[in-house]
Amino acid sequence: MSLNRVLIAPARYVQGPNVIANLKEHTDKLGDKVIIALSAGAKKRLEATINASYGDVKPTYHVFNGECSKTEINRLAEVIKAENFNVVCSLGGGKAHDLAKAAAYYTKRSVVIIPTIASSDAPCSALSVIYTDDGAFEEYLFLPRNPDLVLVDTAVIAKAPVRTLVAGMGDALATYFEARASKQKDCTTCAGGVATITGQALARLCYDTLLSDSVKAKLSAEAGVPSQALEAIVEANTLLSGIGFESGGLGAAHAVHNGLTVLEESHAYLHGEKVAFGVMTHLFMENAPMEEIETVANYCLSVGLPIALGDIGMCNVSDEDLMRVAAAAAAPTDTAVNMPFHVSAETVFAAIKAADAYGRMKHSQH
Ligand SMILES: [Zn+2]
Repeated sequence: MSLNRVLIAPARYVQGPNVIANLKEHTDKLGDKVIIALSAGAKKRLEATINASYGDVKPTYHVFNGECSKTEINRLAEVIKAENFNVVCSLGGGKAHDLAKAAAYYTKRSVVIIPTIASSDAPCSALSVIYTDDGAFEEYLFLPRNPDLVLVDTAVIAKAPVRTLVAGMGDALATYFEARASKQKDCTTCAGGVATITGQALARLCYDTLLSDSVKAKLSAEAGVPSQALEAIVEANTLLSGIGFESGGLGAAHAVHNGLTVLEESHAYLHGEKVAFGVMTHLFMENAPMEEIETVANYCLSVGLPIALGDIGMCNVSDEDLMRVAAAAAAPTDTAVNMPFHVSAETVFAAIKAADAYGRMKHSQH
């Protein structure tokens, strides 16, 4: 049986400095009763700007407790139904977006995602990650469609912590290599088919953009301004990587990330930081050409992304603990099985050790 080629994406993507100041213009295309899920901190920072855009009829703000749990999803869904909101927005980081996507899905409303950091490729996806009330991972909720609008204000992102932007580069760095591996095996992607040539091309464009513009973008963020390079990297981190992972396929880099979360030491590091080390491991698992490994490692060093275990708090990790990481990464339910060769806990373990040795060598030369 041959699978169909499938590509999914948000219905509309808008990016630029100060786009939040015109939020009403964008939500008017979808409905007239707007609720915005956000943290107390985000509300404090952006409420006045948003209210100015709406004039007399202000949107309603729904402050959530910081967790995308079933309790919080139900609480938001009840408010949406009781007051018949027809546009559900989220403003902030990943958990606010996961919450809005899930509540909008259960109440069949339009959803608008407004990221205030560019730390991962989650905003564009048709996926919510659900946690318990205590913040432990519970399940993935695969949604029937992507957000109706993703609105990215680069003036806001330029002033966000620079570390979040760099972590987004780490998440985006995985996209091309994972899509390339998935294609070699003709895997089914999150989009529910095999990758289109479009999805593959966007994944490649994501990598090329990172290589050409990351250092300039990081400097712009340090200066707090949305330069053209920052615009390019925000788009790569959010849109290219978002479509690239979802419609291009995942591989060992994210499986290694997921494995690393088994160890407490990794919890102080951002998703994309762990993914960057996952990319190095992925390349060693593939026995990628030395030239490519050098390019990726030099790239990581140029922006400050991890290339060795010590960079993610695991200087003294034992082989027993690393084997637990490797076993989790090689689980049949994770995405290392998308690699175009057999992956066992032993092969993941070997690749982690080899990538770490190489990363330490690079650090000693630097
Ligand atoms: Zn990711």
